[in-house]
Amino acid sequence: MQQWLNEQNQLVGFAPTMGALHEGHLELIRSAKKDGCLAVASIFVNPTQFNDPADLEKYPRMPEKDAALLSEAGCDVLFMPEVEEVYPPGEDFTIDLDFQQLDKVMEGKFRPGHFKGMATVVNRLLDIVKPDKLYMGQKDFQQLSIVRDMIRQLSLPVELVMCPTVREEDGLAMSSRNLRLSPEMRTTAPVIHQTLQWAKSALQEGMSASEIEKQALLTFTEAGLQPEYFDIVNGNTLVKVQDKSSSGFIVACTAAFAGDVRLIDNLILQS
Ligand code: AMP
Repeated sequence: MQQWLNEQNQLVGFAPTMGALHEGHLELIRSAKKDGCLAVASIFVNPTQFNDPADLEKYPRMPEKDAALLSEAGCDVLFMPEVEEVYPPGEDFTIDLDFQQLDKVMEGKFRPGHFKGMATVVNRLLDIVKPDKLYMGQKDFQQLSIVRDMIRQLSLPVELVMCPTVREEDGLAMSSRNLRLSPEMRTTAPVIHQTLQWAKSALQEGMSASEIEKQALLTFTEAGLQPEYFDIVNGNTLVKVQDKSSSGFIVACTAAFAGDVRLIDNLILQS
């Protein structure tokens, strides 16, 4: 693959995924094409980023359908490695960087080890594909913040491009996990985006961040979701916004269970 990519003499844009692709993933490929890149997608359900073995087991897999979707979206290369190719036995590729608070809050708190596994696989895939540009979705805002910091710390020769979250018509952020929602929970889940939008207007109208967080959690619970967190944070440091200093880049990030499906979403409240 490296040899072929080299021979094309074109910028390489790379979108790593775990498959079960939807429009959110395909937009990453389309963005790479719009930027004039050769588009490379990977499908790899990375075992090291699942802290719950049942979650790894249940992760949807549909490689043939994915390949057809990628090809329609103009993807040039699909890389679908086996676990042994990414992690040859006997070698240790673990990325163990100090991300300060970036990997300790929110997802970091609720999914121990997740970001270490994610950083390790992204670094490993970057080393294999060697792209000029890396396309990732805002949907996983904390993931993107950590990858940005890893690129900075390791001085990796790649430009990170953040692509906006693609949503269903009712606002639910597209996710491979949505396939597992029960019909009832599929109806309830848009409350997540509605609440994020409410948080944006509430902040603009001067409600304190802590009050918004409290009310948002209550809204989720009343709707039948089980929230893990709803945090209003500084978009650069991911530190919780103090009530009296709501200036600059502010993002609301949340995770909630809809039945047994864990969903995450976020919204930029202020840029
Ligand atoms: P995943 O397959 O869930 O690991 O996601 C692979 C990439 O697709 C990540 O960069 C995600 O942020 C991105 N992605 C997933 N869902 C969406 C979405 N709804 N909108 C935009 N990007 C997304």
